[in-house]
Amino acid sequence: MEAIAYCTQCGCATTPDNLVTLAGMPVCGACKPEFLRRLQTGAAELGAAQAAAGRRYRGFWFRVLSYLLDSMILGVLLAPLQFWVFGSMAFTLQANNPAQLQANLPGFFMRSLLLDLVTLGVTIAYATLMIGRWGATLGLMAIEARVVNRDGTPLGYAKALGRAFAIILSGVTLGIGFLMVAFDEQKRGLHDRICDTLVVQK
Ligand SMILES: [Zn+2]
Repeated sequence: MEAIAYCTQCGCATTPDNLVTLAGMPVCGACKPEFLRRLQTGAAELGAAQAAAGRRYRGFWFRVLSYLLDSMILGVLLAPLQFWVFGSMAFTLQANNPAQLQANLPGFFMRSLLLDLVTLGVTIAYATLMIGRWGATLGLMAIEARVVNRDGTPLGYAKALGRAFAIILSGVTLGIGFLMVAFDEQKRGLHDRICDTLVVQK
């Protein structure tokens, strides 16, 4: 008389040699493909959940610090140009000559506009090159943070460029885009939401 064994999935009665043991469970031939598929999906989901659980985000005050550091670095880079624009105006004001002041105003406004454009360009180039190459600006490195995609992969240059533009959007929304970092579970600013990026602790 042959022993009877049961499939742990469908409960069908069969003989032991018709069952295979998968993950410690006897499973019949009919249930095997679906059971294997569930095991694989379960392992993948568990892996993703574990990766997300182990992830730590850099929050609002760290990000403010990082922003201030980057602003200082850009300030040093742009200092000669700022001196050129405002220095010339300061000399004109000091001369206290209304005619000279009036003559110099259009030039001053043009230089101011140039300064704004160069500042914008340098800011975008800085964020794009640093995050594209190293995953962080110097300010983000200082707070031991890195910008990554949702799946943890690096952004690359194209996406870093897109994020640099999105940061401007965060800035022009009266800073609300930045403030969102404080209230988001994953510490995402508006720019992180737009680009689907995360600022994680290294
Ligand atoms: Zn079965």
